[in-house]
Amino acid sequence: MTEVYINDPTPLEEDLAVEKSLRPSKLDEFIGQKELVGNLKLFIDAANGRGDALDHVLLFGPPGLGKTTLANIVARELNVNVKHASGPVLERAGDLAGMITNMEHRDVFFIDEIHRLNSVVEEYLYSAMEDFTIDIMIDKGPSARSIQLNIEPFTLVGATTRLGNLTSPLRDRFGVVLRVDYYEPKDLFHIILRSADILEVKINDEGAMELAHRSRGTPRVANRILRRTRDYAQVKADGLISASVAKVALDQLGIDKIGLDDMDRRILSTLIDKFSGGPVGVKSLAVAIGEDAATIEDVYEPFLIKEGFMQRTSRGRVAQKAAFELLGKEIKTNQQRLFK
Ligand code: ADP
Repeated sequence: MTEVYINDPTPLEEDLAVEKSLRPSKLDEFIGQKELVGNLKLFIDAANGRGDALDHVLLFGPPGLGKTTLANIVARELNVNVKHASGPVLERAGDLAGMITNMEHRDVFFIDEIHRLNSVVEEYLYSAMEDFTIDIMIDKGPSARSIQLNIEPFTLVGATTRLGNLTSPLRDRFGVVLRVDYYEPKDLFHIILRSADILEVKINDEGAMELAHRSRGTPRVANRILRRTRDYAQVKADGLISASVAKVALDQLGIDKIGLDDMDRRILSTLIDKFSGGPVGVKSLAVAIGEDAATIEDVYEPFLIKEGFMQRTSRGRVAQKAAFELLGKEIKTNQQRLFK
């Protein structure tokens, strides 16, 4: 059995079950990411005013920050349908053709994990995005020929955790490229209160703030730890999530004051103990930890880097002073060179 880490923002079954009810459905309800929301609103208003399809939109950032939610909101604000697909699932050009030939004028086509499209499907997408045409093969054998088919102007919304893995021809075909960032505790505070209201969970402001600080800047994690803390509050307290209830519940789940869990600490302690603080390549680090390198890169590392615990350098990953301090490790003189 693979271990599940409580603050891994990759969706669990239990998240998917409630996420639908927790998803904001309008831009006005979308909390935080002010700049992104402002830009998106402007583009949507302009497209609505002209009656045109919105430019293709690429959303990038770590998992659990609201990319899927935004894709749905874009469709709703454009007052059109949305179709969902994901990079690894669209295996053949035919799969893609089937979906996009069925779209109506201005519809939204959402492709999650778009960096994982195979090259055949990706190239097929180019003409669809650029000229709203696709080539399809008809007939077989010597009489096989391709014909060009016009499709309705549509908006592709792509989501990726890895902007760097997108080929430039694909990236260049997006007119709007937006970064979704980790959330500030004050935004997570409001997200938690909103979710608590929908789920009918009793929580006070202090409790919500405590959870907000321990949510790793990630709404999906915030919603998950809200549910876990509710269970704890029901059994051990009188059902209300106060600051003290939140503290005890999250300590028990292994989540510390700033939202790091066992996996985060394991990454940092392996980096320090086994690799003397680095630099070390992410693959060697992953093998030592027994975790997938891609998961470390996409899920854990971005937050550890943002919080100043590690750095990504051209020679590999290096631990920073804050990591030694967090784990109470002695800094040797030759390790000073690691710190920026
Ligand atoms: P991603 O596609 O980036 O992995 P999702 O869009 O699936 O993330 O968001 C995960 C969960 O977090 C959703 O259930 C949604 O309710 C919540 N969420 C994300 N962003 C926000 C936000 N700005 N306001 C309120 N809830 C949010």
